[in-house]
Order: sequence, then C-alpha cells, then structure tokens
Amino acid sequence: MRKIIIAGNWKMHKTQAEALEFLQIFKSKLEDTDDSREIVLCAPFTSLSIMSQILHGGQVRLGAQNIHWEKLGAYTGEISGSMLTELGVHYVIVGHSERRQYFSETDETANLRLLSAQRSGLTPILCVGESKSQRDAGETESVIINQIKRGMVDVDQNNIVIAYEPIWAIGTGATCEASEANRVVGLIRQQLNNKDVPIQYGGSVKADNIDELMQESEIDGVLVGGASLDPAGFARIANFK
Ligand code: PEP
Repeated sequence: MRKIIIAGNWKMHKTQAEALEFLQIFKSKLEDTDDSREIVLCAPFTSLSIMSQILHGGQVRLGAQNIHWEKLGAYTGEISGSMLTELGVHYVIVGHSERRQYFSETDETANLRLLSAQRSGLTPILCVGESKSQRDAGETESVIINQIKRGMVDVDQNNIVIAYEPIWAIGTGATCEASEANRVVGLIRQQLNNKDVPIQYGGSVKADNIDELMQESEIDGVLVGGASLDPAGFARIANFK
C-alpha cells in the first residue's frame, strides 16, 4: 500500500520561538494516525535542532528544505546530509520551483541533491511542475516528463517522494482541479519503475480542498506552503478523513 504523506513547507518563515509556539498548538490539535499516514514539517535550518528535540520519536517527522551534494567542503551557505541526519531530519525538499526560479536550480543540480539525500539516508521530496505559460502552450506533459527523467537519473525509487506542484498554483490561491492534479500525478507514476512511490500534490492546498484532493486515486498526500504556517489550520489538513 502507498504511504500518505502530508508535508508542510514553511519556506523562510518562523524563528525558533515561533516554531516552538507552532508545535505546542499543532501537537494538541493533531489526531493520532496509524502508520499509513506520515506528517512532515519542513522547517528552516535554524529551527531543526530545537524541533527535533521536541518531536523525537513522535508521529511528526522533520524535513529540511535543501541539501548540498558534497559531504563537506568550501561551499559557503550550504548544508550537508550528515548535518541534517545528526539532527534527526528524515525528509528534504529538492528542486522546489522557488529554488529553480530564484537560485538557478536545474534538473541536474536537483539530481545531485537527490542522490546526496539518499546516500545520507534521507528521503528526498522531488518537486516538479509546469509554469502557466508552459501549461497554456500545451507543454505540461513534456515538461513534467523531462523533469522526472533528468532529475531522477540513478535515483533509488524505493526511497523518494515526488510532489506535483504546478507553479501557477503555488501561493496563488488558484488550486489545480483535483481531477486534473490526479491526471498529472498518474502521468508521473507512468514514468516510474516503482509504481508505489508516494506522489503528492502541492499548490494552494487548504483545509477546504484537502478532502477533495485526497479522494483522488493517484494522489498520495500534499505538500503545503502557506496553509502549513497556521498550526490549527495545518492540523485540520493533517487530520483529513
Ligand atoms: C509550496 O511552496 O510548496 C506550496 C505548495 O505553496 P502553497 O501551498 O502556498 O501554494
């Protein structure tokens, strides 16, 4: 059975104090789940240590938002896999569209980061998705297929999560129709040898559209940006029935 993964991506939000305040409320609202559902918080590097001490061994897993491909070295501003695993981090987001757009991330660097995450024993969450102009030009399928093919060279398909995140739906309030998200997620699955890879949808997910999205047969969870910042709101998403 495919795992359901509900992940929050805090991006560059929350100081340590704010992260602790979030956890206090979030944990009190989160309902117990069985092993088939995993809840993940991808926090800024600065909060990972303190959050790890609180979450240790619980039902909420910790994720990071980036990882470098080298073990160590002169790479100012970067973070290695062992630095993350030492803190109890389990997941790491790779190839998010904001990294691609603002920090020149490519399918090739995403691939290096995926391989590095897996070498370190982390589970990478690879983000793929088309822009509005690519969708309008009828290029959605080819863009996604290329991102998957180029990004996943030599990657172990037994330890990866993929997030389909149409760029035009990120932070815009314009959610992709659940049936269309399901179609593209199905297309992604067709490209994979391992059909059990969990594939999430991301893009303006909120408490009021989670149920509809999670009823779709191909969608195995969500990657949530803005709506993961509010502890009660994100708990409502994580507690979906
Ligand atoms: C994201 O950044 O991964 C995301 C999906 O953001 P939002 O939920 O705010 O659209």
